[in-house]
Amino acid sequence: MTEKKILITGDSGFIGSHLVLLFTSKYPNYEIHGLDNLTYASNRDHLKSLATKSNYQFHKMDICNREAIINLFRFHKFTDVIHLAAESHVDNSIEDPVLFMQTNILGTLNLLDAFRQYSSGRFHHISTDEVYGDLSLDEPMFDENTAYNPSSPYSASKASSDHLVRAYHRTYGLNIVVTNCSNNYGPHQHLEKFIPTIIHCLSNDKHIPIYGNGRNVRDWLYVEDHVCALDLVFHNGKNGETYNVGSNNELSNINLVYKICDIFLDKDLIKSPHSLIQFVPDRLGHDRRYAIDYSKLSTDLNWSPRVDFDQGLLITVDWYLDYLKG
Ligand code: NAD
Repeated sequence: MTEKKILITGDSGFIGSHLVLLFTSKYPNYEIHGLDNLTYASNRDHLKSLATKSNYQFHKMDICNREAIINLFRFHKFTDVIHLAAESHVDNSIEDPVLFMQTNILGTLNLLDAFRQYSSGRFHHISTDEVYGDLSLDEPMFDENTAYNPSSPYSASKASSDHLVRAYHRTYGLNIVVTNCSNNYGPHQHLEKFIPTIIHCLSNDKHIPIYGNGRNVRDWLYVEDHVCALDLVFHNGKNGETYNVGSNNELSNINLVYKICDIFLDKDLIKSPHSLIQFVPDRLGHDRRYAIDYSKLSTDLNWSPRVDFDQGLLITVDWYLDYLKG
C-alpha cells in the first residue's frame, strides 16, 4: 500500500537528485513524484537508475505556471511536498534578479497554494544559511534565532520564500518544516559552482578564478549528509520548526583551492597547480563568512555529519574526473 505520495521539486538538480535517489530506494512504499522544468542546472543523466523504479514518476513543469501546478495537485493529490526547485546561483541572481524572484518567491507561493487546497501532509521547504547574511571572522555562528539579513538577490529571494512558508503555517495552519543549510559539495553539482569549477580548471590547465583575496569562508557539507538531514527532518521534525544544517567545517576559499590542488598533485595529474590560481575582482556584495550552528538538529533529531571533508572531497574529485571524461 502506498503510505505517502510525495512531490519532490527540483529533483533533477544537484541536491534534489541525491534526495530522490535516497527516497525511491529507502521507501519502496512511497509514491515519489519528481518535478523540474529542466533548466540548464538540471541533469536527468544522474537519475537514469530511476527508469526501473516503479515508485517514481517525473513531471516536467515550471513551478511558476500556477495553473499547471494547481491542476497537477488536483489530479495527483500529493500528501507531502519537499521543495528544492530554485534558481540557485548567486552570480546569476546579480545578473537577472527578476528570474530569481519569480522562481524562488512566486514559484513557492504557487506550491503553497496548491498544497493548501489538495494536500494534508507536510510541506518541507529547503533553504540556505545565506538568508542570515554574513559574519565577521570572530562573530558567533548563525542559529535558528539569528535575524534574517540577506545580501544578494538570491538570498533575498530565498529569505522571502522562507517567510511565505512560515506565514502559511501561521495563517492557514499548514504543517511545515524549514531547513537552512550551509554550502553543499559532492557529485552532480553544476560546473558553474565553486568546487566543480576548481576541478574543471585543474583538469583542463585553465586559470582558477578566485574572487577578491580568497579569504571568504564557507562551511562545507557533503551532499549525502544534507540529504540524510532532510530525511530526518521531513519525517521527525516538529511542525512549524526551523532546523539549521551545517558541518562545523569552515574553510577559506583559497585553502579549499589548495586542498584540491593537493589531491591533483597526489594523483600526479598536474605539476604546478598553484600557478593556475588567479584572483579576480570580488563578487558584488560578497559575503565574508558563513558558519552555522546545527546543535538543534543534533540535539532534537540526533543528526550529525558523517562524511569527513577530506574523504568527501576525494570522492567528489574522482567523480568529476570521471564525469569530465564524458
Ligand atoms: P540546483 O540549481 O542544482 O537545482 C535546482 C533545480 O531546480 C534544477 O534542476 C532546476 O532545473 C530546477 N528549477 C529551477 N527553476 C525551476 C522552475 N521554475 N520550475 C521547476 N524547476 C525549477 O540547486 P541545488 O544546489 O540542488 O539546490 C536545491 C535547493 O537547495 C535550492 O532551493 C537551494 O536554494 C537550496 N540550497 C542549496 C545549497 C547548495 O549548497 N547547493 C545550500 C543550501 C540550500
